[in-house]
Amino acid sequence: MAERDGQAMRLGLVGIGKIARDQHIPAITADPRFTLVATASRNAELEGVPGHTDIAGLIAGGHDLDAVSLCTPPAGRHAIACAAIDAGLHVMLEKPPAATLSEIEDLAGRARDRGVTLFATWHSREAAGVEPARAWLAGRRIDRVRITWKEDIRRWHPGQEWILAAGGFGVFDPGINALSILTRIMPRPVMLEAARMSMPRGRQSPIAASLTMRSGDTPVEAEFDFLQTGPQSWDIEIETDQGTLLLAMGGSIITLPGGAPIEAPDAEYPRLYARFAELVASGQSDVDVAPLRLIADAALVAERAEAEAFAF
Ligand code: NAP
Repeated sequence: MAERDGQAMRLGLVGIGKIARDQHIPAITADPRFTLVATASRNAELEGVPGHTDIAGLIAGGHDLDAVSLCTPPAGRHAIACAAIDAGLHVMLEKPPAATLSEIEDLAGRARDRGVTLFATWHSREAAGVEPARAWLAGRRIDRVRITWKEDIRRWHPGQEWILAAGGFGVFDPGINALSILTRIMPRPVMLEAARMSMPRGRQSPIAASLTMRSGDTPVEAEFDFLQTGPQSWDIEIETDQGTLLLAMGGSIITLPGGAPIEAPDAEYPRLYARFAELVASGQSDVDVAPLRLIADAALVAERAEAEAFAF
């Protein structure tokens, strides 16, 4: 790292759950620009890595940290990020970057004042088809966009009670990944017009939702469902005057009109850590709230319908 004269950044990882184990630890381990020196998690530790139960212990633990990466759920992340920024650490945030827009805006201001990097990540934007789609769409007439994001909560989020609690985002937890792609590839900003949300009895966040949006003159429809068994869908279909572009499997497979599907190996998290290293080296932050704003807008205007009670 530039700021360590060529040595690896000393990183702390906070919230050792599914995504930390599946993606962050392999990406950090494979990147010579980072050394994982300690963790903070209430109930979990990594073998061979000093562990603490909270951010205060991690900061006070004598690890000579440069940065932390936060993998806790969005509710509660603001306080953790504040502690890290106040301690002069660079901070990388899992998506969604915070539970509210005002929280992430507060964090961006604090990072600026403290002179540290804040990186609000959107891992789906690093999927292989996203930048080619953005490039292909630039300058073309886009007639319609359809998002179908339907997955099985029991398969991908087993036992994650927080996800249906207040501030857990419900089906918008995966759905915001689609919106992060949408807001990256569309040439014009995206505006939310209407929304419907299905709220399981006794829960605080939606289990299904549909959004009606517009980007310039282009209508955009999104269907999100957390109860999809059988084939899972993470697709975005974009009709243009020159045919339909399809982004499938969360943006990892792109099919241009008349062409065959093109797929590349998954490198989302290695790319996020590479970008974090670049941001720190250049003294910059990257905080784009556009996907979060669409979810916040949906919560403002949505028609809500009660759905059956849900149990994992
Ligand atoms: P998870 O498996 O529940 O892990 C989160 C960890 O954070 C927990 O194991 C828990 O560890 C800690 N934590 C701290 N405060 C918590 C609280 N109030 N409630 C629950 N856990 C708390 O969740 P995850 O799937 O890794 O998701 C974490 C974040 O990553 C979310 O923002 C999610 O959107 C994002 N993400 C997830 C995926 C995925 O496929 N799962 C993919 C991309 C991004 P301790 O109990 O040890 O503190």
